[in-house]
Amino acid sequence: MKSIKDALNQMSYPKRMEEQYEKFKDIVLNDPDIKVFLDQNRPFLNRKIFDSGLLKMYEYHTQSKECANCPSLSECVNMVPGYHPQLVLKNKQSIELDYQQCPSKVLAEIQKEKKNKIKSVYIPSNLLNATFMDIYEDDEYRYQIKQQIWSFLKSYKSNKNTKGFYIHGGFGVGKTYILCAIANELAEENTESMIMYFPEFIRELKSVMSNEGAFNNKLEAAKKVPVLMFDDIGAESMTSWMRDEILGPILQYRMLEKLPTFFTSNLNLDELLRHYTYSQKGEEEGIKAKRILERVKFLTEEIELVDINRRN
Ligand code: ADP
Ligand code: MG
Repeated sequence: MKSIKDALNQMSYPKRMEEQYEKFKDIVLNDPDIKVFLDQNRPFLNRKIFDSGLLKMYEYHTQSKECANCPSLSECVNMVPGYHPQLVLKNKQSIELDYQQCPSKVLAEIQKEKKNKIKSVYIPSNLLNATFMDIYEDDEYRYQIKQQIWSFLKSYKSNKNTKGFYIHGGFGVGKTYILCAIANELAEENTESMIMYFPEFIRELKSVMSNEGAFNNKLEAAKKVPVLMFDDIGAESMTSWMRDEILGPILQYRMLEKLPTFFTSNLNLDELLRHYTYSQKGEEEGIKAKRILERVKFLTEEIELVDINRRN
């Protein structure tokens, strides 16, 4: 008995074309989505439009729609990954495909956009995914902190001049985690924030000191970002330059503009005052230190985070 392939090969070219046409037509007419499209456009269709659109309809049939055949965006099976087709009757003249972003691609773009709302310096990437939902509330005290954070987020929606927090506590109690969770909640609302590991921010500024443009850009960004978060303030080595030329002006600006500002620290406010009082050279500059502290207090509500070290 002859195989189908042999049978086809023995056919004349027009005959083979006709077989192929019938095969495609059969597939296309049995596709429920295509049926709907043809039904909707029946008043405008004729044999010519149908025949010249057959390959397009076949292509439509082979593509995954609404991510139905793709386990994930990276495993998208379509010709152009991340895009799925729609059938359209262009000018009531020809059947065409309109490729649009598929739901997974749309979602990925939204997530990317949200991530772009958070600028960070030296913050571990696993912490950057922290969510408000996952903040531990395993004791009454932490539950209360969560309520405070929630009330900040609620208030910020209607009042962009809401105060931030000065979160202090021991090592590994979740201070950075909480900052990141707040930043992610803000990103959901399209608010830009910056989380800077403060000692590294100072190091970065020092490294671009000779480049006035780059230096000013970094400083201006910290001054003007809608929500600024300085992680681990007080862990940097204290110099009068850092205190009076960097931290002071940033806080001054944010105080005048009433822009939300957050700090985390291992130091409580008294210890922070002491930190900013003595420079590396041992000079005592109490007044300048007090000025910094006044600004920190103006900008924030204090939260003490008492907990066990959660680091493994
Ligand atoms: P800190 O900044 O106070 O030193 P981190 O924020 O780095 O502490 O938290 C220490 C570790 O505990 C991190 O690995 C973090 O993932 C984990 N962690 C802290 N708080 C939470 C939380 N609320 N939910 C889940 N993990 C947390
Ligand atoms: Mg930390």
